[in-house]
Order: sequence, then structure tokens, then C-alpha cells
Amino acid sequence: MDKAIGRVFSISESLVGVNEIQGSVMNGEVAFVILENGERLKSEVIDIKEGGYVYLQVFEDTSWMKVGDPVEFNGLPLTVKLGPGILGSVTDGLQNPLYQLAKIEQFLERGLVVEPLDNTVKWHFTPAVKKGDKVSGGSILGTVPEKIFQHKIFVPFSLTAPYIVENMASEGDYTHDDVIATIRDQKGEPLDLYLAFEWPVKKPMPFFQRSVPTTAMPTGIRIIDGLFPIAYGGTACNPGPFGAGKTVLQHSLAKYSQADVVIVAACGERAGEAVEVFKDFPELIDPRTGNSLMDRTFIVGNTSSMPVAAREASVYIATSVGEYYRKQGLNVLMLADSTSRWAQALRETSGRKEEIPGPEAFPMYISTLVSAFYDRAGVEIMPDGNSGSLSIIGTVSPAGGNFDEPVTQATLLSTGAFWGLSRALSDARKYPAIDRLESTSQYPSLLQHDEVALMKELLHDGKTISSNIILMGEKGITDDTYIRYQKAEFLDAVFLQQNSFHQVDGVTTPERMRIMFDIVRKVIKAPVTITGKDEIRSHFNFLRQAFIDWNRLDQSDERFDKQKSQIVNLIKQGALHAEENV
Ligand code: ADP
Ligand code: MG
Repeated sequence: MDKAIGRVFSISESLVGVNEIQGSVMNGEVAFVILENGERLKSEVIDIKEGGYVYLQVFEDTSWMKVGDPVEFNGLPLTVKLGPGILGSVTDGLQNPLYQLAKIEQFLERGLVVEPLDNTVKWHFTPAVKKGDKVSGGSILGTVPEKIFQHKIFVPFSLTAPYIVENMASEGDYTHDDVIATIRDQKGEPLDLYLAFEWPVKKPMPFFQRSVPTTAMPTGIRIIDGLFPIAYGGTACNPGPFGAGKTVLQHSLAKYSQADVVIVAACGERAGEAVEVFKDFPELIDPRTGNSLMDRTFIVGNTSSMPVAAREASVYIATSVGEYYRKQGLNVLMLADSTSRWAQALRETSGRKEEIPGPEAFPMYISTLVSAFYDRAGVEIMPDGNSGSLSIIGTVSPAGGNFDEPVTQATLLSTGAFWGLSRALSDARKYPAIDRLESTSQYPSLLQHDEVALMKELLHDGKTISSNIILMGEKGITDDTYIRYQKAEFLDAVFLQQNSFHQVDGVTTPERMRIMFDIVRKVIKAPVTITGKDEIRSHFNFLRQAFIDWNRLDQSDERFDKQKSQIVNLIKQGALHAEENV
């Protein structure tokens, strides 16, 4: 079938109207606007109007485009190429690889089309099926080693009918241009398969079998792992005002989470921040594998300096890659910073299309899109009994830090954990500034249920007492109440606060968190028989400082156990005091 063609009749930044269409056009298909100088600007059909015209969203800068410029439709939706070679790579929102990290700071040359997966690399393929075998979408043709694991080469998931293997490559080295299998459907039509295949990014990859996320994923961040955990296959919403620590938190999660694969979608944030990730990662070592952290990472670098329309594509590419590595039986963590920038791009386009706006001029369908996006996360059980997961953590940057706006609200309804960053906490430099009382999670903690309850109750009391102190002064409350307040402050200072930039304190393993929390619990539960506000404050100051010093000692440090005993002694002293007076 011939591909459709048309001509540009209107240009409103990235929204371009096309008429004089010959052939049939479908929603979501890719089109190219061809400029006078031959540049081809990648676009997507986003609206088909009655009367024979359509609207395109152009993914690149539209300057020098003219009314009358020809348009070619390619009959296929926006796709991502999935296969070995994605791990360790950095691409823009259209899966153009960014070989040089510096490039992310500038616009890529407009209209540039680069092979998404390097087709000069040879992969060592070991077949798993042979001529005459029956296969269909999801069958494993063979494997190739890729960085951290054995990468399964699948029959593309879209091929649901049964096929017979007609020809199978023998064990050996192949590139992305080599046919590794030829299969034949029941009508006898042959089809060549490669190491990689294309997948339409907006279509969720169907789950083999979906399961509920119930296992906590250690992130190394104590307030998350202890109080507001995320599960493998779970979702979290991380809203916060500018400068409250969203990006720092995302970087920590990317570095320290116990996931097999980490996908970072840097969506519309400042280019400088994205560059930091890219520069940092190749040098960092993944403690679990001993390899570069970059080996488990895929970065889609779509920053604020790139065209708005490409933001959406970048989020969907990242998600599809996440689903693909989940099918490999891996635990994938995807970080999207920031989903608000994506939503703002949708708002701009919707405004240009003159659609009926919803609250704050966001399109009415924003909540449907947001929930469909997070719904792509989950735990998947494969036919062989292995499981994989995709967890999605999205930051939201609401204007003025107001969580009542539509994107935050839509995200809240679609996610299992809510980490609301508080301006008051970040101003007080109490990082991570995750609100201790407002945040929630439906996933199981790395700590025991009653331990979580113990913390929550104490934090709640601490807040109430703190308001009373503001109203009545320290003199207005009893010593016992003041002790309770100091315990809450202690918990916050030594356990919930964490310096992301400190080599040791920046990440806490589940094992270390257990050791730490046992001492924290002792402090919370131990009686304090000291009298007088000044004396009580001084006791807790000592305790806090001793604990913070301990937090900065590596577990292999000989002083680690000594410091722990010292803290335990301080706890005893606080309880002994009264007995001396008796
Ligand atoms: P946002 O992305 O929300 O605008 P950032 O993540 O860029 O905010 O954080 C702003 C600043 O706050 C950082 O540059 C850093 O100085 C400080 N900060 C945030 N989180 C932490 C943390 N966990 N530990 C230490 N400093 C932090
Ligand atoms: Mg940020």
C-alpha cells in the first residue's frame, strides 16, 4: 500500500496542520515534514479532523517550515527499537543516541536520523530453537550476553499467531543488520527476525501474567525504606516545589536502589542537571556487580532545551524500554523527572488545538493519560515461572508547590506511594525533605509493622508538642512531654534525615538500617529520668551527635562497634540518672 502524502497549511510552533491528503492516515502514525532544503522533521499525527485534514505534533524545531511544504506519512506509529545495546546508552527523546555527553546540552542537529542501536557491534548469539519448531510472540529464539545478564532474543510480542521456524542462525556473532531467524505463518508467508524489533511506544506491552507488588525494593534511603517504601513493580509520586530536592532524590534512587536496570527519563529539566547524571554514572561502581553503574542504566535525555513535543516521546520510550527489560525477567526502576514538564507540553499542544480545557488549562484527558502511564508499571510472571518488575517513580513540579493542581492530583490517584516534599523541611535543610506526616505508602516496609507504627505515633506527637511549645514556651509543658518531643526530634535527625552527598550516610543497606533502627528504638523506648529542660536537651544533643558520627562511619571501620556501644551507654545514663537521685 502506498504511503499517504499531504501539504502543510498551518503552522503554530510544534502544531502543524496538513491537508490535501492522498491516502489514508491513522492517528498516532509518524509523518515527516520535508523542508525546502531537504530536512525531514519527524512528527506524529495527533488529531484527524473531518474534512480531510490532520494535525501533526512536530518533534523538532519548526523554524523555516512553510505553508505548502510536503508531508510524508509512514503508516507506522512512533516506535522504539528494542534489543541488546540499550544498557549503558544515552539517547534523546527520539532514541537518537547521544554518543558524546556534551551533545545533550545543545540541540541535536535538526532532522538528524541515527541508528538507535549501534549496528557495528557484534553480539554473540546462542540459539534456543531450531528449524521446524513452533514459535509465537514472546518465544525465546536465543540469547546474547549484554553487560549484566543474558539478553533473551524474543519473537516480537505483536506476532500473536503461531509460526514455524524456517531458518535459524547457528551460534555465532551477529549485528543488528543480520537476520537471525526466518519464520513462516500458517499461510506460508515468510518473516525475517533480527536481534531487535520495533515496538509502538504508546502501546503497553501486554503482561504474560500480572501479579501484585508486595516485596519492598531497598533504595538506600531510610525515610523511604523505613516509612514510605516502594515495592518492586510499584509506583511513587514525588511532588515538590522548586529546590526542595526532587532531582537529588532521583539521583540517589538511580544510584543506590536495588534494581537490575535503571532508566532515567530526564524530561524537561535543566540540561545542567541531566549532564550531571551522565558525567557521574560511568565512574560510579555498582556495589552489586562491581561494574560501572552505567552498565545497568539507560538514560533518555530530553531536557528543557529540546523541543517540547519530544518530551512526551521520551517518557514513552523510557516506559517501553522498561517493559522490555521486565520481560527479560529483571527488576527495572524507571525515574521520570519531571512528569509536570510532560504535562505542560500536552497543555501547550492542547491549547493550540483549541480543545476545551480542564482545570488550570490542562487537557481534560490528563488524568486518563497519567493513570495509563503508571499502569504500565507492575510485576510480571513469565511463562517459565521467573518474574520481572517495572517500578515507576515520577516527580511532579507543581507551580508554587501547590499539590492541589491537576497533575499532582492525577498522579496521586495512580500511584502506590506518595513522597510529598515540603518547603518547610527543605528550608530547614532537613533532607530528604519528604513530609513525615503527609506522605504515604501502601507497600510493606523493610521494618516491622509495629516499628513503623511506633515511628509514626512519635512523629505525630512531636508535631503536636512542637506547636504547643510555640504557643506556650518550653515552660508550658512538662518534662515528660518535653522528653517525648526530644525523642521525635532525635528520630528525625538521626534516622529520617540523610545527607545524600556523604559517601557513607548517603546510602544505607537494609542490613545496616536494621542495626541502626534497633538503637533508635532503644532511644524511643528507654525511660529518661533526667529533670529540667536544659538537662534533657543537653542529654539528647549528646545522643544525637554520637549517632550522627556513627552514621558517617563505614561498617568496616573499627570504630563502628565502639561508637555503637557509646550510644548505648548514653541511653543507659539517661535512664540511670534518677536512680542516683533516689
Ligand atoms: P528540585 O529538583 O526539587 O528543584 P534539587 O534536587 O535540585 O531540587 O535540590 C536542590 C538543592 O537542595 C540541592 O542542590 C542540594 O544542595 C540540596 N539537597 C536536596 N536534597 C538533599 C539531600 N538529600 N542531602 C543534601 N542536600 C540536599
Ligand atoms: Mg529538579
